Amino acid sequence: LASRDFHPDNTVINIKGVSIGGSELVIMGGPCAVESPEQIDEIARLVKAAGGQVLRGGAFKPRTGPYSFQGVGVEGLEMMAEAGKKHGLLTITEVMTPEYVDVCAEHADILQVGTRNMQNFDLLRKLGTIQTPVLLKRGFSSTYDEFLNAAEYILAGGNPNVMLCERGIRTFETYTRNTLDLTAIPVLHQLSHLPVISDPSHGTGRRELVETMCKASVAAGADGLIVEMHTDPDNSMTGDGVQSLFPDQFAKLLQDLEKLAPLC
Ligand code: PEP
Ligand code: MN
Repeated sequence: LASRDFHPDNTVINIKGVSIGGSELVIMGGPCAVESPEQIDEIARLVKAAGGQVLRGGAFKPRTGPYSFQGVGVEGLEMMAEAGKKHGLLTITEVMTPEYVDVCAEHADILQVGTRNMQNFDLLRKLGTIQTPVLLKRGFSSTYDEFLNAAEYILAGGNPNVMLCERGIRTFETYTRNTLDLTAIPVLHQLSHLPVISDPSHGTGRRELVETMCKASVAAGADGLIVEMHTDPDNSMTGDGVQSLFPDQFAKLLQDLEKLAPLC
């Protein structure tokens, strides 16, 4: 079902008037984690003002260590839904377990499966039973075939609304947090009809590289970008402040991107 062989035309996912996978670029921006109502409201305002369409933010955070901040939970879903509605943005948030799929889908327009959960088959199966669009992140050590098979689980369950997200893979390089595999973008387009989104924030882990790799992703054919932005990155509650753009950088990035491709 994920293969282009059996579905030659690109899949376009339409969410409340925003078409993902068509000729326009979708921009998802926001903090790594939802922290407070004030934080997410202000960032939503800035994403909208810059020309973005989707507000990102994690209420449930998959942290490497059990003692790190794990996200604010269901309250965060409510804060983000409210900010999205107020500022006219779609919302995307990560869901980590099958039990939380329904409550996340109640509050968000798009559900994100994180890199660490790409092969959480129970989660993928559950996501196949609903119609809410899913942004599936590539596992950081997964092949294209494994990635497409993970998407297949969701599609096979009956949910056709899947986007693929390249977010960097693990290589021998340590200067960057991950290695953004730009080649994945044209390869996934060749093999599959599903929209392809690029995540240069996690793909590089370094703010100063995000802008360039966003532009490179668009040149490689990405249908959209997911970018971390924070009003106070140095004091963000996850370690992802170092890869988060400042609001003025985010606004400038969108201005530049508009010269490369029309935004949604
Ligand atoms: C995130 O989007 O904040 C995140 C945790 O992403 P990934 O699963 O790609 O690490
Ligand atoms: Mn993050």
